[in-house]
Amino acid sequence: MPRNSIMPKSQIGNSELISQVNKCLVLEAVRVMQPTFRAAVARKTGLKPATITCIANELIAQGLLEEIPGKTENGRAEIGRWGRPPLMLQVNADSKRILAIDLEPDQIRVALSNLLIQPLVYREKPNDRFSTPQVILNKIIALCQEALQGVKRSSILGAGVSLAGLIDSESGVGISSTNMPKWRDVPVQKILEQKLKIPVRVERSLHLAALYERWSNPHLADRTTLIISVRTGVGMSMMHRGQLYVGNKGFDGEIGHTVIDIDGPQCECGNRGCLETFVSATAIAERARRAIANGKGRAIQAAIDVGDTLTPELIYRLARGGDDDCIAIVCDIGHYLGIAIANVINLFAPHEVVISGSIDLAEDLILDAIKDQVNKSALPRTRENTLIRLARERERLPLLGAAVLVAQQVFELPRLSHTTAQEQVWTAPQMAPILAAR
Ligand SMILES: [Zn+2]
Repeated sequence: MPRNSIMPKSQIGNSELISQVNKCLVLEAVRVMQPTFRAAVARKTGLKPATITCIANELIAQGLLEEIPGKTENGRAEIGRWGRPPLMLQVNADSKRILAIDLEPDQIRVALSNLLIQPLVYREKPNDRFSTPQVILNKIIALCQEALQGVKRSSILGAGVSLAGLIDSESGVGISSTNMPKWRDVPVQKILEQKLKIPVRVERSLHLAALYERWSNPHLADRTTLIISVRTGVGMSMMHRGQLYVGNKGFDGEIGHTVIDIDGPQCECGNRGCLETFVSATAIAERARRAIANGKGRAIQAAIDVGDTLTPELIYRLARGGDDDCIAIVCDIGHYLGIAIANVINLFAPHEVVISGSIDLAEDLILDAIKDQVNKSALPRTRENTLIRLARERERLPLLGAAVLVAQQVFELPRLSHTTAQEQVWTAPQMAPILAAR
């Protein structure tokens, strides 16, 4: 498992790098506790108060932190020892802009956020998954240019890109995606950097979903969490004690291609009976068509007749509206997801399982069906200690994670790195005691 890499061992004596690590630690501590006093930052980071003062002054001068008059818990201005209110620190959210891009087989999303990953501009457009890479990239570039209009280039920290399927994150190449057949060896990072003239980083959507979940839930720092993403495909990412698990070459989390019925339908990956053949967008549409062919699914047919497209969202919406045939489809999806989730709960005994994805319109129905199945299939002791919940940001999780990928340069967060064991790196938590002693 890669660690949150800050610097190679050979560079540990480099004082500039140590100062950079300390700045990241302080910024992250302020972000999590803000607004907060310098003394609290010193306690959280283990750094000496004098060091905190020095770093905070430097970060204020750089525009990344700002000072505000201190307040007590009930919101009243606090009076300091010298009759003036003591100053608190907070992140200067507007000091930087971050561009985030999420390419899903059926949807392209683009956001411009501030340094605290609060979206200021949001654009989305349907994607035709059978298009050529050139057509898809042109669409992305047009949306990005729209989002960047009027933004000072010097304030842009960079762009993060979330891609489905297999990628090489070091070179920023999209290798393949089972749901986008023409998408092969696409140099996404290179093309976007040339067109947008800003630094670009590319990562798998699954990893980015986990990254945002960790960013918005600081308590996950000491928990084991599984994030299940139900989108066009189904994927999983895992954080163990707050650190993201990244498999060999970054190819992990393919829960959608775990087999739950060896005699099941043919999957696009070549196997039979993968989870995805029961719960993917294609599988849901197929199930709806079968219902109509069997004389059921009248509400679905009526919606299609007035111009609706047969998508999971349509089925979710009708289920939410009380249509029994669509409720049955949604419960089936929850049932199959529950089988797969019970298996991983038995394997990893996580503290939390977080469900994310395009399920907004049927979230309670799916969650209840998943919980029912997990209660039947997972080992009792393990399941009783696992919280199953929905992510706050459903389908936007990877998009916001793409922004966090860029913000990582500034804050001390788990780094995404695909380094091998030979390239062992020092991590900020490992270094904190060394730095604190200085
Ligand atoms: Zn498969």
